[in-house]
Amino acid sequence: MKHLVAVAHGDGIGPEIMEATLLILKEAGANLELQEVEIGEKVYKRGILTGIEPRSWETLRKAKTFLKAPITTPQGGGFKSLNVTVRTTLGLFANIRPCVSYAPYIATKHPKMDLVIVRENEEDLYAGIEYRQTPDVATSIKIISRQGSEKIIRYAFEYARHHGRKKVTCLIKDNIMKFSDGLFHQVFDEIRAEYPDIASDHWIVDIGMAKVADTPEIFEVIVTPNLYGDILSDIAAQISGSVGLVGSANIGDHGAMFEAIHGSAPKRAGQNVANPSALILASVMMMAYLNETATANRIHDAWLSTLEQGIHTYDIYKEGVSKTLVGTREFAQAVVKNLGKQPHHLKPPTYQSATKIMPLLQPRSAQAQRQLIGVDAFIYFPGSAQQLQKKMTSFRSPPLQLEMITNRGVRIWPEGQPETFCIEQYRCRFIHPSRQATQQEIVALLGALAAAGFDLIKTENLYTFDGKAGYSSADG
Ligand code: NAD
Repeated sequence: MKHLVAVAHGDGIGPEIMEATLLILKEAGANLELQEVEIGEKVYKRGILTGIEPRSWETLRKAKTFLKAPITTPQGGGFKSLNVTVRTTLGLFANIRPCVSYAPYIATKHPKMDLVIVRENEEDLYAGIEYRQTPDVATSIKIISRQGSEKIIRYAFEYARHHGRKKVTCLIKDNIMKFSDGLFHQVFDEIRAEYPDIASDHWIVDIGMAKVADTPEIFEVIVTPNLYGDILSDIAAQISGSVGLVGSANIGDHGAMFEAIHGSAPKRAGQNVANPSALILASVMMMAYLNETATANRIHDAWLSTLEQGIHTYDIYKEGVSKTLVGTREFAQAVVKNLGKQPHHLKPPTYQSATKIMPLLQPRSAQAQRQLIGVDAFIYFPGSAQQLQKKMTSFRSPPLQLEMITNRGVRIWPEGQPETFCIEQYRCRFIHPSRQATQQEIVALLGALAAAGFDLIKTENLYTFDGKAGYSSADG
């Protein structure tokens, strides 16, 4: 029986690298029935803000496996990233990005690099929940959930176990984002205790990324929230030789999408120069996912043999290392010619249903006593900080009491410093003296603020959990 696979040719270099990939799949005897879906620029231009026709969802749902070339997201105009839409709508929570060096055949400063990035795919700033709140202020909301963290972290440990990897590293910034990245870190600590056979460690993401750029060989599997994973995988791919070398698998409980990690590189489009390797390797991961491991291995071996023969596209071509500079099409033809060959030196991976390692346990929910105690009211005030302070400190709406005013997270009242630079958005924190507020009291306070002429931008309720504050203080 053939595997039904939805295919999208994408924008920019997309159609060229997809053509190359499909040629190799066909010549390798991949047992596929392809169904095309139209996505990207053409669809956006028809005014569909998600970049995908509503009827295409049915194809994706039916096929459950999606091979996708990169697309171009138009700037502005309310257009949403199609990649993010597909990942989140279909629940493709794990983004697997193996970054390997191919020394000495591809020039790299890191010949021993062989790491896999397991990027969280549905949460974080990628939720794209953004607001322009005042003429001069915009915000993005970063969402990290226990369930989302648990799914991806457990996936990373399962991936490590399944692939004989010895260590999982977590990259986070919980010294600053104590609640969001702090939750990710906490869940990492809980899950790692269940995998005593796998070593684990964590790094603050800035030094962690610096370490990856400097000594990538000390990492095996890296699990990290969405945005860090995005940045890290371009860095890791580029230092392995080129962003054009890394494919990715987006895995969910109900399906999977396979793509290159790079974008549509419009500057290189239509010139037959792009490196199709990332999409070829994504298709190899797809064959492994479909349990067609022999075909996955066959294509991967042929691709490695092509690299060893020095047949390279412009992005990896280096005088003295490479032998023949080729275009996209010629590279694919060379891979086809090498089908059945084994690489001499580069280590071929052995695929055993490489990415489908579920079922995972159902994520747990934290049990905690949640108590409403007050509210943060964000106020637009274009006057000076002193004027706002004066007006706000003379405002009264019992029983809630003003506890502090901050600007960009810095306390300006009480005990502010005159040097603090203030923008036109202020956060005013009101707390119930008994530390037990009701929704009605909060609503009454907000009504009183509006009646007193304050320009409310947004509010955030404040809760304690088992008596511990569930919100950041102004003092870190
Ligand atoms: P990009 O990854 O498309 O290209 C950046 C540069 O990397 C290119 O100019 C080129 O020099 C090099 N490059 C990338 N892929 C290559 C390949 N296969 N072979 C050789 N060189 C390659 O990044 P960008 O220019 O910032 O983004 C272009 C568009 O792609 C944007 O519209 C962006 O939204 C979109 N994008 C799409 C995806 C996706 O569909 N998954 C991912 C990232 C970016």
